[in-house]
Amino acid sequence: MAGWKGIVGNNYVAESFDSYCHSLAWSAWRPSFIVLHNTGIPSLAQRPQGLTAKHLDSLQAYYRDQQGWKGGPHLFIDDQQIWVFTPLTVSGTHSPSWNKVALGIEMLGDYEKEPFHSGRGLAVRRNTVSAIATLCAILGLDPHTLRLHREDPLTTHACPGKNVRKLEIIQEVQDLMVQRHAGEHPIKPVA
Ligand SMILES: [Zn+2]
Repeated sequence: MAGWKGIVGNNYVAESFDSYCHSLAWSAWRPSFIVLHNTGIPSLAQRPQGLTAKHLDSLQAYYRDQQGWKGGPHLFIDDQQIWVFTPLTVSGTHSPSWNKVALGIEMLGDYEKEPFHSGRGLAVRRNTVSAIATLCAILGLDPHTLRLHREDPLTTHACPGKNVRKLEIIQEVQDLMVQRHAGEHPIKPVA
């Protein structure tokens, strides 16, 4: 498909993802906020070992060849790692109203049915909160600008499922950003 933007295809854990993002330059395109999704299908149960490079290749074939799109979501996050799909420095395809202005993050799972507060869902959530905190810090994004795909007026998808509560995610992102950058201005020493 002409115009396909390619995929990065690398996977990271929270710390190495942070280092990776520090190496990027958003000179041609700069996102204004982040849109959160869940894959629905496949669910966590359908990917007992999480996502593999082979799964990413299949996703690439699906978006590029079947959908005829130029890109996909930027990240696929499972319980073990953060996969970079469409390069973070170019616009992707994930949410009709916001593709031009937002990064798209897919979480592996169907959080309409699968728990997001325990087990593998909780691990996905932690990886996701960490990735969002990294992107907000580097791009200077206010965590409150986070949107869920289901908030897009042009979609009918109930994505992500109801177990994903936006304000909880925002709070956790804020807490993590504070924890990572816990410095304060020093109090002037008394002369
Ligand atoms: Zn979605």
